[in-house]
Amino acid sequence: MEPYVVLDLETTGVGPARDQIFQIALRHSDGRRWTTWINPGVAIPEPIRRLTRADLDAIRQAPPLAVVLPEVIPWLSETTVVGHNVRFDLAFLERQGVRVKQWIDTLEWARIAFPTRTHYRLADFFPEAIGDLHDAETDVDLTETLLHEIRRALGRLPVSTQTDLARILGSEWHWWAISSSPGPEDDVLSPLDHPSPEPEPDPMPDPVPVNWDVAQRLHELGQHVGPDVRWDHRPEQLAILQRVDQAMREGEILLAQAGTGTGKSLAYLIPALRQALTNGTRVVVATHTLALQEQLWQRDWPLASQGLPARAVLLKGRGRYLCLLRAHQVRDDWHVLGEAAERRWALARLLTYIAVTDRGDGSDTAGNATWDALWREVEVDMDHCIGPRCPYAGPCFMRRSRRDAESSHVLIVNHALLVAHLMTGRALPEFSHVIIDEAHHLGEVVERGFGFEFPIYRWLKQLREMFEGRSAIAQRAQWHPDLLPLFYDLQHQFQQLGQSLGEWAQLLVVESPPSEYDTRMVRLDRERRQLWQTRDTERQWNRLLDTLAEADGGVQTLLAELESRYGAHLSDDRALWRLAQWLKDFPETAHNLSRWGQIDDERVSWWEIHQWSDGNPEVTLRWSWVEIGPLLDRHLWQTVTSATLTSATLGLSGRTPYLAEWLGIDPSRLATVSVPSPFDWDHQARLFLAQDAPDPREPEYWDALAAFLIQTAPIRGGRMLVLLTSNRSVGQLAWRIRAPLEEQGIQTLAQGIDGPPRLIVEQFRQNGRSVLLGTASLWEGVDIPGQALEIVVLARLPFRAPGEPLEEARHERIRQQGKSPFWTRSLPDAIIRFQQGFGRLIRTKSDRGVVVVFDPRIQPTRTRYAATFLQALPAVPWVNLPIASLPERITAFWEEQHAHFAE
Ligand code: SF4
Repeated sequence: MEPYVVLDLETTGVGPARDQIFQIALRHSDGRRWTTWINPGVAIPEPIRRLTRADLDAIRQAPPLAVVLPEVIPWLSETTVVGHNVRFDLAFLERQGVRVKQWIDTLEWARIAFPTRTHYRLADFFPEAIGDLHDAETDVDLTETLLHEIRRALGRLPVSTQTDLARILGSEWHWWAISSSPGPEDDVLSPLDHPSPEPEPDPMPDPVPVNWDVAQRLHELGQHVGPDVRWDHRPEQLAILQRVDQAMREGEILLAQAGTGTGKSLAYLIPALRQALTNGTRVVVATHTLALQEQLWQRDWPLASQGLPARAVLLKGRGRYLCLLRAHQVRDDWHVLGEAAERRWALARLLTYIAVTDRGDGSDTAGNATWDALWREVEVDMDHCIGPRCPYAGPCFMRRSRRDAESSHVLIVNHALLVAHLMTGRALPEFSHVIIDEAHHLGEVVERGFGFEFPIYRWLKQLREMFEGRSAIAQRAQWHPDLLPLFYDLQHQFQQLGQSLGEWAQLLVVESPPSEYDTRMVRLDRERRQLWQTRDTERQWNRLLDTLAEADGGVQTLLAELESRYGAHLSDDRALWRLAQWLKDFPETAHNLSRWGQIDDERVSWWEIHQWSDGNPEVTLRWSWVEIGPLLDRHLWQTVTSATLTSATLGLSGRTPYLAEWLGIDPSRLATVSVPSPFDWDHQARLFLAQDAPDPREPEYWDALAAFLIQTAPIRGGRMLVLLTSNRSVGQLAWRIRAPLEEQGIQTLAQGIDGPPRLIVEQFRQNGRSVLLGTASLWEGVDIPGQALEIVVLARLPFRAPGEPLEEARHERIRQQGKSPFWTRSLPDAIIRFQQGFGRLIRTKSDRGVVVVFDPRIQPTRTRYAATFLQALPAVPWVNLPIASLPERITAFWEEQHAHFAE
């Protein structure tokens, strides 16, 4: 490497135009170093002083920047300046007239050298130094260490990737002076430069005799865990483990409710391993969230399978993988598309990612909008995939994972992939047992999977992209003059169809009554259908069906022509291949669309109108099966030897579990087990019910809730999660509490206003002084252990919004069976979500906190069902109090906690 100087500044804020430098540290590659405090002439804000541990006495006596600069300039003027996020520091110096010739930003280069990391702060690379960071002198030392680590990582890349980086980054790459000396690692080509045909998959291994029982295996694992794994003996875990084992042996369908902290993953993986090894059969484990899927793969599976000849594979939906063929195209086009500097850096990172990853999975990486856009260009798109004929079929990440599945004992999948398999029978290899974690979500995924969803405007956009005059397909058609008439015919028919659909969407928007919810849903029932007869609506719908039928004729003709002409070689031309795939899917789409307008007792049709913030409505046509039980029975329960459905919340309190009925589980195979959470609820938590909370339907409710939050949030300096039931209520509350809380130094993070859930949850974790307001996805998708979350407020009991068409149809069905929809469906459904919301608070044995329910319907004296909600919770002490006394009692709880720890 050429000589360099590492630079770091500490400043009074983040704005070069208004904030001042108060510390500079420099370190030359020849070993010289220089550090000084600077008197900024303004006060250093307290959070920055604490963060940087600034020595205020030394700063008061330090010279001003004008005196220091002449000493700094010679260090920087002739040498490459290195820094972590160095452009931030350089912006401050530029304001003082200091310019540098060249710089290297270790933050940008770390993204390239370590593409599978998701965080790139110095603290992420050097967690052991976290207490010393943000002192300029420490930061330059760590930046220099990182600089050398980056160089080593770049030097390990395959030669072909290094050549690509040199082409794309030019002099910035050459600065590192990486010499590709021949060595075993240098011989390795990036998969992009190493296409190969697909090998045959390995066969499933033969059965292996197993001489342990499941309890013994759990015990032995506990004896041998490493020092980095926390291990507690938990009777609850043992109980679930033995029950799952029994269900697998006896062919049951088990509902296993296991409270948070039970350790249920290991409790089902061990029996799964035993079954798979002894019988040579396969077990599918399906989760709802990617987070749990990853946790099983990275943490629980390696532990459970330690020392056993067992194979597992993590399978995700196809769209999550990187497509090498598309990446190859993007790399080849870089000089056309890659002129923007940000895109060049993103492309460089993509190429190193391809060289180092062994799974090609989008969730390995995180980045900015440029990175996300680039990723979308290279992710697997089944419309483009040419399957076994692809030159990359051998190294293809998606196909490799599917091949590995053929010889694996355990497949770790998500609900969506499992349901895709139930629908097509092709997404997974055969399996004998299924374990469904987070099983309370399965029903919704089945509804969506087996139902029909047609977002009109998105489909029209796709249609335009496909058939507009300058599309790739239109250009191919020019090469085949005799195909042109067919193509133009179809183009014309689709224009008609597009117009018809667009008019139809407009009509539905006009027909939709207003709603207080974010998405308007309107059911297409018999009365509405009859009403259509008296208006122009019926004629419009019939016209739409006619254009669909006409287009279908054109589709069939063009498809037949393409197939007879090209046969197996159709996939050689990707644009034509994509067209053919789209044409093949068209009849099914057309069939489902026409079914949308038919009313029958088995399905329910509706349309949804979602108003985007830019004012444009999104119109979606949907239909779903009223009952999913028969579908699951036919496609899943009857096909497997055993099934285990587990979650912390399965609503097992009633006589016949609600989930068992909904999911169509045969009572003769049904078994249940429920074990409580092993936490010490007496000491770890309190539940407070706001006795005099107003009715949530009344306007004064929001003022009362806001006043309560403004008073309560400062007790723990934020660390509060407020769970609401609609985006509109998030907005109502956010504008009431934001300014008053800001005055107390507490930030409000509102879902959909301050960012998407993933982003605001991360901010909440990092910034202790925040209140997080969220809706549906935060009721359950959030895991914030430790002190970052200490107060959870459940603003309303989470009953579904009235008038959801599918829910309404189900209620009618339940009424026909002589039962009460409220007690058999609405209530158990709301209780599961209530349990989930409550469960956000205590995630580990050391967590402490309070939950407040701010809904009068939880008062046992107000509703008959209040007790059912309370009984569904773990054994937490609860107190019913007027709102005015809640802050005092919450404070008292924390004082008790401090006293407890002081003892
Ligand atoms: S097989 Fe399909 S997904 Fe895989 S690299 Fe080829 S085109 Fe892409």
